[in-house]
Amino acid sequence: MKEKSIYFPPDTGGHYNLKFSDRCVYCGQPKETYLYVTPKWSERTLDSWVEHSFTFNVPYCGKHAKESLTNVTILKDIFYVGLVLTVIGGFIKIRPDEVTAIAGTLFILVLAGGVIGLLIAWLAKKILTRFIPSMADTPIPIPKVVEGGTLGFSASIMTFDPHELLLMFTNEEIAREWMELNEGATDIDLHKRLT
Ligand SMILES: [Zn+2]
Repeated sequence: MKEKSIYFPPDTGGHYNLKFSDRCVYCGQPKETYLYVTPKWSERTLDSWVEHSFTFNVPYCGKHAKESLTNVTILKDIFYVGLVLTVIGGFIKIRPDEVTAIAGTLFILVLAGGVIGLLIAWLAKKILTRFIPSMADTPIPIPKVVEGGTLGFSASIMTFDPHELLLMFTNEEIAREWMELNEGATDIDLHKRLT
């Protein structure tokens, strides 16, 4: 399926008021349950980092809610295995011996582990798609960025002002319906064609 990308601005209070219809966001069948999607972004203030986190209830039919939870868990576990193995392997190889060196090495290894974990999860997703077709429509959950991206849907927040939401739907009909329900939404593909 082709993904549909939509921008959605926050309201004057900095919140996102998303309205969904009573249909599964993936297949369009009647809604039976919800899954949570909690995008977040962090901002550096004078003395600390402030995390802005939002939770959206995304409607699903029972079958796809279950499938989404399974797929996301598999991809997340693979990501963490890649990260942990990189940190352990790198630590054994580098063998830092001073406290400051240990802290610095750990920091770099966690960053590298995050990149390698993502790469492995991406590869695993390609391979697993042969056996579980809906894997192709499952976003890789990036911890701290797209926590809880779900089957056929993802939401992330732009780090620059005005912090628009970037939404992706794999079901084009549901995406169009969503745009009709939510005033202020911009169809990115359409925008590209017009400008
Ligand atoms: Zn469904």
